[in-house]
Amino acid sequence: MDVALCLFSSDLRLHDQPVLHAALRAAPQVVPLFVVDTGIADAGFMVPNRAAFLADALADLDAGLRERGGRLVIRTGDVVTETCRVAAETGAGAGEVHLAAGVSGYALRRERRLGAELAAAGRSLVVHDAVITAQPPGAVLPSGPGKDHFAVFTPYFRRWQAAGRRSVLPAPRSVRVPAEVRSEKLPSARVLCPDGEPSPALPEGGERAGRRRFGAWQRSGMADYQDRQDDLPGDATSRLSPYLHFGCLSPVELVHKASGRSDAGSEAFVRQLAWRDFHHQVLAARPGAARADYRTKGDRWRYDGAEVKAWKEGRTGYPVVDAGMRQLLHEGWLHNRARMLVASFLTKTLYVDWRVGARHFLDLLVDGDVANNQLNWQWVAGTGTDTRPNRVLNPLVQARRFDPEGAYVRRWVPELAGLAGPAVHQPWKLSGPERAAYDYPDPVVDLADALVRFKRARGLE
Ligand code: FAD
Repeated sequence: MDVALCLFSSDLRLHDQPVLHAALRAAPQVVPLFVVDTGIADAGFMVPNRAAFLADALADLDAGLRERGGRLVIRTGDVVTETCRVAAETGAGAGEVHLAAGVSGYALRRERRLGAELAAAGRSLVVHDAVITAQPPGAVLPSGPGKDHFAVFTPYFRRWQAAGRRSVLPAPRSVRVPAEVRSEKLPSARVLCPDGEPSPALPEGGERAGRRRFGAWQRSGMADYQDRQDDLPGDATSRLSPYLHFGCLSPVELVHKASGRSDAGSEAFVRQLAWRDFHHQVLAARPGAARADYRTKGDRWRYDGAEVKAWKEGRTGYPVVDAGMRQLLHEGWLHNRARMLVASFLTKTLYVDWRVGARHFLDLLVDGDVANNQLNWQWVAGTGTDTRPNRVLNPLVQARRFDPEGAYVRRWVPELAGLAGPAVHQPWKLSGPERAAYDYPDPVVDLADALVRFKRARGLE
């Protein structure tokens, strides 16, 4: 075999890259290929924030390949058609296409189609595990016949920790790409997503930016992670999620590096990476959970357009909820604690279908990811894997615990910045004239009434 194809997907990196590594071992020349999948755009999944990050990541990948004598080949269209076309353009030489195993229903269907079409042309698809997740879905299973995934995190995590891990691969030194394979221009964010504007404060995409961020995080963030991970104003989490989503960083490498330390912070960080794998293995076993309740509670959700609009715009009258929703609009990213409390507010306090919130998150999140987003939404809504599905996060209690001095709220809700200390969490308590000085809405709902409504709906009283 003269040529192998490395078909990049959610693994846009050169370090610890098993797909590229295997293609380079299989043949003296490799086509590093990325197909801008029009199916993803047609499904409404290509949104300005992720398009901006993806454009950065592709440019960075191309630059890294060029430093090694290669380049990234870009095509646009249906991934299966374009990949087969590129393989055919290399003549009889291209025998193998290498690809990272996906987990969503969409990725699995695409993988099957690609395998079949390549086989029909006498070529083969080689699918690699432990590229997008640290442990491949299905590698860590509960005992018992017919069990195809873990539904509870703690036992999953125990088995996940005990399971072996592949070793970390070095970045290749050189990559030889056949000269005759043509490429389209690297796509800009605008080409990837012509409609809409990205959020003003997005992170820079790409492997180099991700490795810089991870290096800084290892040096000065990880050690305190356990104590500070829920500190809303402290903003002390890694912010690595978009780099993991696009595969600019390898979860296997991150787990190896964090496990090599012995502080409580690195252990807590590894646990979060295992949460990521956990949701991926649930989705791989139950692809329908991207849309349907994983464990239905028979909810007959409400929909009040004005309330949903207030939630999306960060004008619910609950400052900590509004702070989160405005951060999401501004940065395309949100702290996990804020994601939980705004999601609980939508699904349990307003009693609106989790799919409405999940869609809004997917429209904005730079790390927006079917496995993590849909299954975390289901977890919060109580239709997923939470073992306490009816818990309701009271926004005032959350605010007092995780933003005790109100600094997070003042950062994101500037019209309340004049309110000192925790008073910022309850502007409705101000006296009449004082209250009138703040251009901020009254609460859209009474928390006590909302709780009664939720309990009734779930048959809890
Ligand atoms: P850190 O706290 O530094 O954690 C390190 C890494 O662990 C993260 O980058 C992420 O990859 C993983 N991780 C952490 N918490 C979780 C979790 N609960 N579930 C799965 N993986 C986790 N994460 C996404 O990557 N994409 C999403 O679309 C997404 N949607 C979410 C929606 C809701 C309603 C909720 C409650 C959570 C969602 N999360 C999602 C999970 C989590 O909030 C983010 O991964 C995290 O906030 C990213 O910030 P970080 O990188 O600083 O995380």
